[in-house]
Amino acid sequence: MSNARENRHDQMKVIRDELIAFTASPLYDYRIKNGYFPVVGEGSHTAKVVFIGEAPGENEAKTARPFCGASGRILDELLVSIGIPRNEVYITNIVKDRPPANRDPTTEEIELYASFLDRQLAIIKPTVIATLGRFSMAYIINRLGLADQLTSISAMHGKSFLAKPDWGDVKIIPLYHPAVALYKASMKAQLMEDFQEIKKAIE
Ligand code: URA
Repeated sequence: MSNARENRHDQMKVIRDELIAFTASPLYDYRIKNGYFPVVGEGSHTAKVVFIGEAPGENEAKTARPFCGASGRILDELLVSIGIPRNEVYITNIVKDRPPANRDPTTEEIELYASFLDRQLAIIKPTVIATLGRFSMAYIINRLGLADQLTSISAMHGKSFLAKPDWGDVKIIPLYHPAVALYKASMKAQLMEDFQEIKKAIE
């Protein structure tokens, strides 16, 4: 491993260890009681594209892998549709522990876990951030200085928004959460169309 790669790997390990010991989280007791794991993220630490979901579901919390259940199968199909191997991107969530009964993450939970995500982005330095669902969209658009452009996911999905964080120019591409295709089959076509924007952004 090159020094730069090794360095990123070590910094990610620090984040993982902090998350394992994150007793300050209101989700910590639920994690321990159920034998769950925190889901730090998975993929390349030098990825051009980072995907950010909401929070782990049950499969993810049991295996410590993001998007490995039903939503993950949709995400995998979408990645195949644009010819990007899953191991070349980085996939994570804003909230790293599973909220009970798959409820939405609370504002308090998002605020509490967001600094881990901020640090992961600063380590990876992606040129494209694809948000999956409205929670990660709102957080990233606000966090990267584009609050004045934040509207609804139905207006923003599939478009590219240029942000300029410390590490360089980044295209933020808001996408619907892949789970929408599980409830409404027609949304798969919309997601496929929106994923083309990621392909264009890295060409
Ligand atoms: N949904 C998410 O938002 N993240 C996961 O990791 C799995 C399902």
